[in-house]
Amino acid sequence: MADTEPVKAGNLVACPLCGEWNIEGADHCENCLADLAALDVPVTAQPGAETEFNTPLTSLRVLRPVVVAPETPVRDVVARLRDEPDTAAVVMRGSTVVGIFTERDVLKRIVGRPERLDDPVERWMTPDPVILRDSDTIAVGLHKMAVGGFRHLPLVHGDELVGVVSGSDLLIWFLIHYFEGVPAGS
Ligand SMILES: [Zn+2]
Repeated sequence: MADTEPVKAGNLVACPLCGEWNIEGADHCENCLADLAALDVPVTAQPGAETEFNTPLTSLRVLRPVVVAPETPVRDVVARLRDEPDTAAVVMRGSTVVGIFTERDVLKRIVGRPERLDDPVERWMTPDPVILRDSDTIAVGLHKMAVGGFRHLPLVHGDELVGVVSGSDLLIWFLIHYFEGVPAGS
């Protein structure tokens, strides 16, 4: 997999980072948001390259999400997040993820505005969040988190929500694999 030329099939081009097929000419990968216009992804991030970044995301701890409907009052979502503080609320309409609502949303949008506690969560959630697939690698997860500035992302298997991945778990994985030898306190 040393070939860095984009892989093409018809008018589709494979994303060099995650392997997703995208329409040729698209600026960004639909799955991992990689910049396809530049196509300057390092060889180490090529699909199939021998690197620990190709470890599947599912080898991380996957958090059980708080699942709520768009109409759920903010008050109820905050109460459930208080009980499970590591995770995030995934807002679903039927089987579709329509938003994510996290501790950060509470701090930025709700604290000091008690009248908002009675609003439906869809009003204050982050809509259409970037979604991780269980087939995605650690590299794709890190990239999606970094590009979007997210700390939690929903993880799906096909169309099914299976959990939430936190940025801090990705960071811990990264530190363990790349900085294990660093003496503590130095
Ligand atoms: Zn991609």
